[in-house]
Amino acid sequence: MKNYDLIIIGAGPAGLAAGLYAGRARLNTLIIEKQKNGGQIVITDEIENYPGCIEGETGPSLIDRMVKQTEKFGVDHVFDTVTDMDLSGDVKKLTCLHEEYACKAVIIAAGANPVNIGCPGEKELTGKGVSYCATCDAAFFEDFEVYVVGGGDAAVEEAIYLTKFARKVTIIHRRNELRAAKSIQDKAFANPKLDFMWDTVVEEIKGDGIVESMVVKNVKTGELTEVMADEDDGTFGIFVFIGFKPNTEVFRGHVEMDEKGYILTDPEMRTNIPGVFAAGDIRQKSLRQVVTACADGAIAAVEAGKYIEEM
Ligand code: NAP
Repeated sequence: MKNYDLIIIGAGPAGLAAGLYAGRARLNTLIIEKQKNGGQIVITDEIENYPGCIEGETGPSLIDRMVKQTEKFGVDHVFDTVTDMDLSGDVKKLTCLHEEYACKAVIIAAGANPVNIGCPGEKELTGKGVSYCATCDAAFFEDFEVYVVGGGDAAVEEAIYLTKFARKVTIIHRRNELRAAKSIQDKAFANPKLDFMWDTVVEEIKGDGIVESMVVKNVKTGELTEVMADEDDGTFGIFVFIGFKPNTEVFRGHVEMDEKGYILTDPEMRTNIPGVFAAGDIRQKSLRQVVTACADGAIAAVEAGKYIEEM
């Protein structure tokens, strides 16, 4: 079993900011990441609302620098998946797929994931026309038609980004007004390549190995319409941005959560378990942004340091 002062679960902006503060405080720290450093932000093409990022900052470029910064202060990184834990005592134990760890304090910063539409065909055609990441997949739809599902900040921002690639982008939204911030809406309405399908939901996605059509329903009239791929194209893209769900399944029963599965903390990022903190998108909060995730991470690391010192 490997021992650390602090283990941070998740290498998104919250986990990396926590790592930076913990490393600088000389805590022997490990960051465990399941898949890929950066979390949601690595699928973001442009960051203009993180202070200091003015032009040309992408999610991956920002994350690369955050990772290097933690390494500079001696933080260890490992790719592994937490499968079980005992957080109750003074020594916290984490069981991962490849290793077991013990530590004095834990920061849970495992983030949140995209919500699926849940209609027939969506799962089968994911990666074959259905996508949850414009930065990853936009280039596949160069000069094709693309549909974006959702009406929040993510949907509208990603739809604008997709207009750089696709011939035409149509936002499919279940209401007749967008949820996205006014400034983002203004950009969208001014974009000649963006169209809107209001009061509409996707009922089914069809295709033989690739998206060929989808059935949409007007929620006001109940009318069903099958949207077919252009004959010459043979396919179109469906990008889904309808919110997130927290990655808290493995923590269920170990820390207190709200009804949606977000972890409850006090303003110091403390959960109901002494020595266990949560930071970033995974916790119940009003604004999920890189800047708020980083702030959470910094606070959690400082509080974890105090907790360890007082032990
Ligand atoms: P969101 O704000 O929760 O918006 C989700 C959108 O999807 C809403 O328009 C919602 O419709 C729609 N929706 C939800 N479930 C649906 C379903 N089953 N079928 C069809 N439509 C559905 O989520 P988000 O846009 O992913 O943003 C998440 C958080 O990240 C927000 O706090 C957002 O501000 C933040 N964010 C910020 C930026 C930025 O500031 N640059 C960029 C991206 C994300 P209704 O409107 O009808 O509820």
